[in-house]
Amino acid sequence: MILILLGPPGAGKGTQAHRLSAMLSLPTLSTGDMLRDAMAAGTALGKKVKEVMDSGNLVADDDVVALVEERTREEDCQNGFILDGFPRTVAQADALAAMLSRRDLTLDHVINFDVADDEIVRRKGGRLTAPKSKRIYHVEFNPPKTAGKCDESGEDLVQRDDDKEDVVRHRLNVYREQTMPLISYYADKGILIPLNGAESVETVSENLANALNVPYKQTA
Ligand code: ADP
Ligand code: ADP
Repeated sequence: MILILLGPPGAGKGTQAHRLSAMLSLPTLSTGDMLRDAMAAGTALGKKVKEVMDSGNLVADDDVVALVEERTREEDCQNGFILDGFPRTVAQADALAAMLSRRDLTLDHVINFDVADDEIVRRKGGRLTAPKSKRIYHVEFNPPKTAGKCDESGEDLVQRDDDKEDVVRHRLNVYREQTMPLISYYADKGILIPLNGAESVETVSENLANALNVPYKQTA
């Protein structure tokens, strides 16, 4: 199965991607994580994208498309994959469609997470992430068992630089201008599944499993 998780930054895509990954035994491909890994490793791409990412703007289409092209060729993607945070522009969606068609693959569903702006700012303000395990927490809504430490890896949790309120508001504008057109793009193809992302983590997870017709598994 090939899935896209679509929605504004902070809608809960990453959180649900981790849970779906366990339910479906499919890898999650987060372009945000891949780009942050490139920055941490100090690669040429990482150096090139740092300023753009810190400002909350989008990285060039060609660079993210190349990352996805390469990653989806790996062995663990043979049975499908979950895309989190890609595509984010119509050009990326077109490139993905061309790539899948070249490989005789089909995009099954696009889940559209709907969450109001103010809730997003609240969520982003408290988001904590684990740089290595990529697990996502929230100080209030989804806290780790031990404050400041990842449940899975025990590593220190960090707050991302681009989660400050003014950058988040800017990222919401970028989302509206460049990513929102993908809602009608995929609705027109008849593969869009709307999802109310404002519910609790557990409820969203359950609704998502039902929408995809997979047995719901409590993972966290
Ligand atoms: P969030 O989890 O808050 O939605 P991401 O981790 O997906 O954020 O993305 C962080 C940043 O990485 C974005 O603001 C953007 O600069 C860059 N980025 C991630 N995915 C893409 C993409 N598909 N196209 C362009 N830029 C991207
Ligand atoms: P995205 O990948 O769409 O940017 P995340 O999964 O990183 O979103 O979630 C953003 C923040 O909101 C995180 O701190 C996460 O713990 C929290 N969060 C995710 N889903 C929910 C939810 N349903 N209710 C409350 N908080 C949530």
